[in-house]
Amino acid sequence: MAGPALVAVDANRGALADVERELRDRYARHYRIVCLRSASEARAQLEELAAAGDDVALVLAGQGLSETTGIELLDAARHLHPHAKRGLLVEWGSWGDRATGEAIFDSIAHGRIDHYVLRPGASPDEMFHQAISSLLLEWSEAQHAYPYLVQIVGESWSGRAYELRDVLRQCAIPHAFCLADDEDGRAIVARAGDGAQLPMIAFPDGTLLIDPSNADIATATGSDVRPERSDFDLVIVGAGPAGLSAAVYGASEGFNTLVVDQGGLGGQATSSALIRNYLGFPRGVSGRRLAQQAYDQAWIFGANFAFMQRVTDLRRESDRLVLSLSEGGQVRARAVLLATGASYRRLGVPELEALSGAGVFYGGTTTEAPLMSGSDAYVLGGANSAGQAALHLARYARRVTLVVRARALGAGMSHYLVRQVEATPNVRVRLGTEIVGGGGDGWLDHLVLRDHSNGGEETVDADGLFLMIGARPHTDWLPDEVSRDPRGFVLTGADLPGTGEWPLDRDPYLLESSLPGVFAAGDVRHGSVKRVASAVGEGSVAIQLLHRLFVDDRLHPPRRRPQTTVATEG
Ligand SMILES: Cc1cc2nc3c(=O)[nH]c(=O)nc-3n(C[C@H](O)[C@H](O)[C@H](O)COP(=O)(O)OP(=O)(O)OC[C@H]3O[C@@H](n4cnc5c(N)ncnc54)[C@H](O)[C@@H]3O)c2cc1C
Repeated sequence: MAGPALVAVDANRGALADVERELRDRYARHYRIVCLRSASEARAQLEELAAAGDDVALVLAGQGLSETTGIELLDAARHLHPHAKRGLLVEWGSWGDRATGEAIFDSIAHGRIDHYVLRPGASPDEMFHQAISSLLLEWSEAQHAYPYLVQIVGESWSGRAYELRDVLRQCAIPHAFCLADDEDGRAIVARAGDGAQLPMIAFPDGTLLIDPSNADIATATGSDVRPERSDFDLVIVGAGPAGLSAAVYGASEGFNTLVVDQGGLGGQATSSALIRNYLGFPRGVSGRRLAQQAYDQAWIFGANFAFMQRVTDLRRESDRLVLSLSEGGQVRARAVLLATGASYRRLGVPELEALSGAGVFYGGTTTEAPLMSGSDAYVLGGANSAGQAALHLARYARRVTLVVRARALGAGMSHYLVRQVEATPNVRVRLGTEIVGGGGDGWLDHLVLRDHSNGGEETVDADGLFLMIGARPHTDWLPDEVSRDPRGFVLTGADLPGTGEWPLDRDPYLLESSLPGVFAAGDVRHGSVKRVASAVGEGSVAIQLLHRLFVDDRLHPPRRRPQTTVATEG
């Protein structure tokens, strides 16, 4: 059978026979199953497949091989087949053995294996198959081998074609891009007929959109743009992790809930190829998958959504809060949750801004990383997102350089990521450095780096630049009644007393802003932890606070505390 290979290696004859039986029974129709007992045979086979340009989707190895360890073999496999998923086969209960436990922990932390897989037990072993199919799903997603793939066709990588890619990324929709004069591009353009304008989008159901608006795209993917009604208990602004979590809890607690997002689903999380520190996903989860599942969950509970709609204004009218939407119309709510998050700052180097989408990318690397195969990629930033981007790119690029302004990597990055970055051979770190220039003819080909210590500038070859340089909250549109810190993040709860901005005689609830009935959760909130789990947690807490708000309903009439100036006059 020709097809991507699944390679299994185990010195234990019986264990290998079990693995081979399960793999053949379930996967032999679509994959080539290769089962071997020795590391040398496996290495030779992997080299042969690499030389022939054949895909390897998965390598499984038992730890105790005769000439080497399973982890070392899997590490070697990573260099020969960077996209292959790698699983260490372990016996049931062996994680209790200290040496095995430490080997697993260490090799996952250093990216030498993707995860461990329990050797199969009684056949059919559905737990084994769940582990294998999860790894194969991740592999196929990374190959852009989705069953329903949206294709964008453009004249060039940049301009509106780049914006469309970004819109689909924001909607958590798997997509691919091709140039109009590529083979795939020509076929799609021919379907559109002579003179059709570019860019265009071909959907899996046959729909072809010519130079579509963002709202057209949302509608074509079956998403709502205009809310079906105008009065809700709760309107959530933002469908990132905080907003989606609030939607799940809000709708499940019986509140009539609307979520409005200026883009699509998942907020910043959709730019993350693999979130490894979110509870319940030991193998990690892509931001896109997490967002899609959260959306499904909220939708099943009855939450309403309006995508590609920016909320442009918020004001109180009697006992309702009124929100204006960019596509026209208003919605009214008893309470509002601001979950508008933040976005990355721009670099501000004009020649690099001009190459946005053509080698220069803001935020995530999920879609663009495969373009970096065999290339030199740069990541600018010193936080977790930058570390993750560098590690993800390292699977594809020849070399990844992480450019950090700070003098130490640990200043802004979690310890586990610092360890992984330092242990990845094709990632190097340039501390105390900034990017001050660059350019290319239609695609980035060089960057200018400046060393802070001596001001010296160096021009380097670069095929890709991924920018992750700090967040700016999405709060410009808010009325003055919603108090913010000097950087624009919303003040809530205990931040408010003493500012003179809180208008009622009760204290504000934990996540409540200075406009009573308006709450804030996630990255947009002053003092928030910029993580998916904390955004999700705050989204759920906000719903509990709504119960108290609606029971007390102490919003009106706003009563000001006696002014402290009275006392000072005396
Ligand atoms: C590349 C990358 C990797 C990351 N990796 C991790 C990780 O591994 N682990 C982790 O815990 N965290 C990670 N983070 C951080 C994490 O994604 C954020 O902390 C989290 O997404 C914040 O969620 P949020 O809902 O508060 O805001 P956001 O995710 O920013 O979502 C806000 C939403 O509000 C919408 N919006 C904004 N203004 C308006 C408006 N006026 N009208 C309508 N809609 C509006 C936006 O379109 C957006 O969808 C990563 C971030 C990035 C960028």
